[in-house]
Amino acid sequence: MQKNGTLTDDLVAIRTKLLGIILPTVLLLLLASALIVILVNPPRSYERTAYGFLIAFLFVLGSAGCVFLHLNRYKTAALLTIAIGVLGPWGSLVLDPNVGVQDLFPLVYVTVPVLLSSTFLTIGPTIVLAVLQLVGLVYVMLCSPVLHEVNWPSLIAYVCIVTVIGVMMNGINVMHMRKLQESAIHDFLTGLFNRRFMQEALDRKLLRGNRRAQTVGLIIFDIDRFKMCNDTYGHGAGDAVLQAIAEELFEILDLSSIACRIGGDEFAIIIPEASEESLSGNARLVGESLPRLQIHYQGKTLEPITVSQGLAMFPRDGETATELMLHADSALMQAKREGRNRFVVYRNE
Ligand code: GH3
Ligand code: MG
Repeated sequence: MQKNGTLTDDLVAIRTKLLGIILPTVLLLLLASALIVILVNPPRSYERTAYGFLIAFLFVLGSAGCVFLHLNRYKTAALLTIAIGVLGPWGSLVLDPNVGVQDLFPLVYVTVPVLLSSTFLTIGPTIVLAVLQLVGLVYVMLCSPVLHEVNWPSLIAYVCIVTVIGVMMNGINVMHMRKLQESAIHDFLTGLFNRRFMQEALDRKLLRGNRRAQTVGLIIFDIDRFKMCNDTYGHGAGDAVLQAIAEELFEILDLSSIACRIGGDEFAIIIPEASEESLSGNARLVGESLPRLQIHYQGKTLEPITVSQGLAMFPRDGETATELMLHADSALMQAKREGRNRFVVYRNE
């Protein structure tokens, strides 16, 4: 039985929003840097020209990033942002003779692209970028005449620490996102998919069924006299029953089936490419295996449970998800009326 949705779409949506904030901020910072360069360095000085050129180039990259983001090209915009972070400090090293000879401080900024990469890309590229920059940094240190005068091991240690923290934050964010996404589509008590997910999944399966001329089976079932179980043994026992049903569904259903808890004691099973026989076969399996469950709660063995089921099939019994659910539900009501503990196939009379 299917258990998971995809994470990538949600992550990209969040990262796109974040990039929409960071890119204009980077452009503002570049403008501020340009102002400082103009104020600090005398006109026509080498530093003013060199840094002016570098900042203008980075500004062009940042503006291109904004355009790509606007065109929904998230990855290109992210790479351009990271490129700005890489070219800033290394460009300073190439253009400004003071960097690496008298002043190692600008190289601290090599940590910025590592943090950007850990936010916008995956762990792999972030580690590659961090290692490349560390190698470059060690090379600069070895070539620098200030090697013996400044505390360069501290600079390297700082870059390593920021890299590790960046990579860890990336991992924590992805884990957090996965948890959030799981709770958004799963029922908390049973771990089955919830009603919201079920409706989306059914819509998707029907669209695909339409395109490929495939059937989709739907079973909706409800526990018989469940209120009595709650009243006799307590709400905790009722919860144990719901959880036991979910466990059993995980056991007995095929990998392609999607089981959901869509209400208090109401469940649904979507069966892609079902035949009349396989749909009834699944209903029979559910109807026979659930009463066999031995559910224990606080030392007591609960009364066996039975369920009533309604079956409907796309496209025969409905063209849309709403129609199909309505018809499966009306077949379920008929099963209840006819005495419970049975399944009824929807018939359009
Ligand atoms: P029927 O055969 O007609 O379905 O009878 P029923 O007693 O099962 O009636 P119904 O389906 O209307 O009742 C559902 C009951 O499920 C009512 C409510 O107390 C119980 N219920 C709903 N959600 C939960 C839950 O999360 N935990 C527990 N323990 N009980 C729940
Ligand atoms: Mg019920």
